[in-house]
Amino acid sequence: MLHPYSDCYFCGGEVKEQRIAREVWWRGKLHLIEDVPIGVCQQCGQKVILPDVAKAIDKMLAGEVPPDHFVQVPTYRFSEVEQVS
Ligand SMILES: [Zn+2]
Repeated sequence: MLHPYSDCYFCGGEVKEQRIAREVWWRGKLHLIEDVPIGVCQQCGQKVILPDVAKAIDKMLAGEVPPDHFVQVPTYRFSEVEQVS
């Protein structure tokens, strides 16, 4: 299902829906939401999230929807690595 988008607020370009994964930090934990419908301006790349979509994501993060699955992500603590030339 495609959602209606108005033309880009910034440049007036055409906005088309794409399905994009969003990462959200929520209460100190990383949450990944896959296949989020997001409007992307074909001209300047500006992304638009519709209020209904944002609301649905809020519900997921509030725990009203059980996660589909869990993924492990490689995590690093940054440290300067000596350059070998
Ligand atoms: Zn634009």
